[in-house]
Amino acid sequence: MRIFVSGPSGVGKSTIIAEILKRNPDFVLSVSYTTRTARPREVHGKDYFFVSAREFEDMMKKNEFLEWARVHDNLYGTSLSWVESQEKLGRHILLDIDVQGVKQAQGKRVSGTYIFILPPSIDELVKRLAKRGTEDERSFRLRLNNAKDELKAWTMYDYLVVNDDIARAIDDVQSIIDAQRCSRFEMIGRIPWLQEIE
Ligand code: ADP
Ligand code: 5GP
Repeated sequence: MRIFVSGPSGVGKSTIIAEILKRNPDFVLSVSYTTRTARPREVHGKDYFFVSAREFEDMMKKNEFLEWARVHDNLYGTSLSWVESQEKLGRHILLDIDVQGVKQAQGKRVSGTYIFILPPSIDELVKRLAKRGTEDERSFRLRLNNAKDELKAWTMYDYLVVNDDIARAIDDVQSIIDAQRCSRFEMIGRIPWLQEIE
């Protein structure tokens, strides 16, 4: 299954996703390509594939992306072959992509579960982004300016999770995954005899 997670910068997506990956060893995070520079502690091939604009554009021309978007002045994209190779290994995929990427994926009818993470308030979002301390002044302002537009995209999603208390938000995302595990589409492959009843 493919679980798409979006939300404004600083809302807590990475924090939630890290815990979900710990709890669900059959899930992997889709490692996106980006032209953004790596933050301290970010690892090439684990957090992102950090590439030049030229390399990224080359991949765009070759149609290698399931979706891509310009977000906060940088390019980000999901490699279709990377996702498919993980699925062939039997893994489920978590995708942390922005609202434009979700719009593209839904336009191409990419099936999946679409989750939007909301902050308890815009003030709290500002505090979290400041507390993380990873952005320079320009990037900080850009991310906050974009946040309001991104929040207006909530109607595109199947589920809304408010990240007020982090433990609660993680449990909510886990509940959504657990429900998807029982969906007809996921279950049918595991119950072959059900399709053979005459
Ligand atoms: P994103 O990946 O959405 O940009 P992060 O996961 O990096 O956001 O979280 C931004 C900051 O907010 C981090 O410092 C994180 O520890 C903090 N944070 C995440 N969830 C909560 C929460 N529920 N309450 C308080 N702080 C939080
Ligand atoms: P950050 O720079 O904070 O890691 O991510 C910035 C934004 O880019 C986040 O909203 C994140 O969801 C989005 N993002 C990360 N990877 C991708 C991707 O492959 N495609 C798209 N469309 N957005 C992405």
